[in-house]
Amino acid sequence: MVSDLPHVAYIALGSNIGRREKNIAAALNALELTKGVDIDVVSPLYETEAEGGPDDQDKYINGVARVHTNLSPERLLAVCQNIEDSLGRKRAVRWGPRTIDLDLLLFDSEIRSEPELTLPHPMMHERTFVMRPLCDIAPEGFHPVLEEPFSSILKELEANA
Ligand code: AMP
Repeated sequence: MVSDLPHVAYIALGSNIGRREKNIAAALNALELTKGVDIDVVSPLYETEAEGGPDDQDKYINGVARVHTNLSPERLLAVCQNIEDSLGRKRAVRWGPRTIDLDLLLFDSEIRSEPELTLPHPMMHERTFVMRPLCDIAPEGFHPVLEEPFSSILKELEANA
């Protein structure tokens, strides 16, 4: 999609409760309806085992979207959190099951290190379920803190799996 919005951001989407693909579609729809956000491309969706959190969680569906935006990183994160809330995400258990989880992975090459907003997302390079769909849509991408191509990060994760 052609967009004249100035910033490029990547958002990870995950769901492991209910109609998982439908939850992800609803989140994408809500993002697309947000003024100042245009969805450029969405990765393939992958079914993945839950990592961390309580035992015997259901499998996740995960994917990554690239968006163009004229919002600030803080505003875009707030948009993501509002979408999580509106789709009924329960925040009771850390890393527990969730209707929808939206993480802001990258915003241009911005680097932030506040607890409310860390950029790049502090766990992205440790998660195959993030790096695989990210590499699908940004094969030439580069991690601005690790200074490593996404493709090398994914290769390492797969080698250590
Ligand atoms: P979680 O419940 O695991 O999605 O974590 C959400 C919390 O992490 C919120 O308090 C956010 O403010 C904080 N956070 C920090 N950096 C990010 C980021 N890049 N994307 C999403 N949440 C973030």
